[in-house]
Amino acid sequence: MADAETKTAVVTGASKGIGRAICVELAAHGYRVVINYRSDRPGAEETLNRVRAAGSDGRIMEFDVTDRARTVQAVKEILDQYETVDVLVNNAGITADGLFIMMSEEKWHSVIETTLTGFYNITKPVLEKMIRKRRGSVVSIASVAGLVGNRGQANYSAAKAGLIGASRSVAAEVARLGVRVNVVAPGLIDTDMIQAAPVATIKAMIPMARIGRPEEVARVVRFLCSEDASYITGQVIGVNGGMF
Ligand code: NDP
Repeated sequence: MADAETKTAVVTGASKGIGRAICVELAAHGYRVVINYRSDRPGAEETLNRVRAAGSDGRIMEFDVTDRARTVQAVKEILDQYETVDVLVNNAGITADGLFIMMSEEKWHSVIETTLTGFYNITKPVLEKMIRKRRGSVVSIASVAGLVGNRGQANYSAAKAGLIGASRSVAAEVARLGVRVNVVAPGLIDTDMIQAAPVATIKAMIPMARIGRPEEVARVVRFLCSEDASYITGQVIGVNGGMF
């Protein structure tokens, strides 16, 4: 177990993909990491193995960020164990694509709930503690789709654009209280999420002509969490190979 000086990071949706890469990157820079997942326990265990291999430690916590009561309880358990949260990464996200004209209510609400209500459910109780400590950094993972829109992703684009608006507003509210709030907006990144995407078509739209790696997103998140980013708040940083 890390000592009391070790900073604590909470990463939602960390059982795979970008969330896992963020956990490993933060662990390699000395953070202890709370690895949240919703359904993929073996994936979360693999993330913890990699966190340990990177020289740090942490714990796994199963909760669905759309479940407010459970999420608030989880934050309480984290604070009981570690006393504070220095870094919160809102990474949990889903897609449920389809043309808007045919989009079911279920598809609309599931994506909005995960990204936007999930942001509300976990960020609010964590922020209360950060404000009291006059210290903390929140980074949320949006998407290029939240900046430019994307055919078949009205729900996802709306959720990610909303995440950007919420983050910028909260950033302005807490800037004087020692807490920074930023957004990373990835382009196409090689994870399970894009397995059904028309990768060849999208690749043709990427100036760098390749898909990004989760580690390339994770490094920007780690920078934004660090003191190197001490004068950066309310910003949206694209990690997209020049796509936008
Ligand atoms: P993955 O599908 O690989 O992983 C998604 C993660 O989110 C999983 O760990 C999943 O947990 C978790 N999750 C989903 N819903 C919930 C929930 N309600 N509560 C808690 N955890 C949840 O996606 P990526 O790694 O690709 O995406 C990570 C983030 O990056 C997302 O916000 C995504 O929108 C964003 N992004 C991804 C891009 C890409 O090209 N891959 C591009 C731009 C943005 P479990 O598996 O345990 O259910």
